[in-house]
Amino acid sequence: MALTGLEIFKLLPQTNCGDCEVPTCLAFAMKLAGGQAELTSCPHVSEEAIAALGAAAAPPMRAVTVGTGDTAFTVGEETVLFRHDKTFVNPATIGVAVDSGASDDEIDATVAQANAASFDRVGQVLRCRFVAIRSTGDTAGFRAAIERVAASTELPLVLMSEDPEAVSSALGAVADRKPLIHAATEANADAMIALAKEHGCPLAIRAEGLEAVIALTEKADAADVKDLVIDSAPATPADGLRDRVFARRAALEKEVSALGYPTITFPGDFTEGDVQLEAVYAAADVAKYGSIIVLSTADPSVMLPLLVLVQNIYTDPQRPMRAEAKIYEFGSPGPDAPLFITTNFSLTYFIVSSEIESAKIPARLAIVESEGLSVLTAWAAGKFVPERIAKFINESGVAEQIEHRDIIIPGAVAQISGELEGELEDWNVIVGPREAAEIPAFAKKAG
Ligand code: SF4
Repeated sequence: MALTGLEIFKLLPQTNCGDCEVPTCLAFAMKLAGGQAELTSCPHVSEEAIAALGAAAAPPMRAVTVGTGDTAFTVGEETVLFRHDKTFVNPATIGVAVDSGASDDEIDATVAQANAASFDRVGQVLRCRFVAIRSTGDTAGFRAAIERVAASTELPLVLMSEDPEAVSSALGAVADRKPLIHAATEANADAMIALAKEHGCPLAIRAEGLEAVIALTEKADAADVKDLVIDSAPATPADGLRDRVFARRAALEKEVSALGYPTITFPGDFTEGDVQLEAVYAAADVAKYGSIIVLSTADPSVMLPLLVLVQNIYTDPQRPMRAEAKIYEFGSPGPDAPLFITTNFSLTYFIVSSEIESAKIPARLAIVESEGLSVLTAWAAGKFVPERIAKFINESGVAEQIEHRDIIIPGAVAQISGELEGELEDWNVIVGPREAAEIPAFAKKAG
């Protein structure tokens, strides 16, 4: 239950020391209640208050991490039903499953496809996030398949078997990679919960319907196994959609903590090998509360559109995507290659860089830090103005890489050309096209 600012205030030291960089404890409490501050900013808060506030500040849906190191991913921790309410926190993750009974070649091909399923889109890397190994044979074969997969990918693993003996054997090989165990069921719950606890691995709970899921999540929670993922074993995609919506609503609106966990889905279970239909069901899973989506293929024709959908839904509309501010090179540019400049709004960078690439001319593109705003908005907000542009160019070192002193600015801000020439001593400012699509023709004419 969220505490009010005054309730939080009563738990703070009330010394108004200002060490949290907020003048008073009351002001800090109000910020904390509004989600604009972290409790860790107050170095004087007591252990009791941390426990009380920590529990109150815990999100209604638990964050669960699968894997270790750079490839680990976290799902859950959501606080709203709709993106427009605030923002979603951890994007849905998409991965691929392989059967343990498949041939070595088939396993290798699936893993290679999963490793290669990585796409750069508007400055972000979208990729297949995990490999699930589904037990379709004996215990030894399951472990051998897992070892084979583990040896050829850094991606996190999902161990899919309802046989505790098989899972125990597999964990003997890969427990240090913190795989997700799928799944504890009514029949094996005690043993699976014990395995998850022993190895510190996240555990999926699979039971038919949400009431049965609740019974198992409560059992796991009582055993202090809290990193759970839920699977209501739906009979149809519609049942799965209904259960995920009910679970999310129950967790967020009714504070049913036993359903406050991320979900796992298997859209291919309903499609009898039709991967296009599987992609359609997976898209519904992305849109409505699927957290870990296990596909039967990592084929780019299925993976890429789904990853783009995830990116579109989980991008915070209040925080524009940004490209890194630096000098980008296209086609091994020499000292005479043209120098374009624009803002660091990801979409702007993506469009301009695509047009430079399609012009097939070696060139440099200077991306100026402008808080992720597009050209005109950044100019109007004072983020893409001559003073800032000149500072960036002077500090970037690009002048040492080129022999000329021509810089091509977007036509949309032609009005800054004179002032920019004043700021950039010895430089010649050229007004480029208004639209990025005109860059190839502009470059051809200039070249
Ligand atoms: Fe109060 Fe802690 Fe902030 Fe000091 S650091 S003003 S005690 S909330």
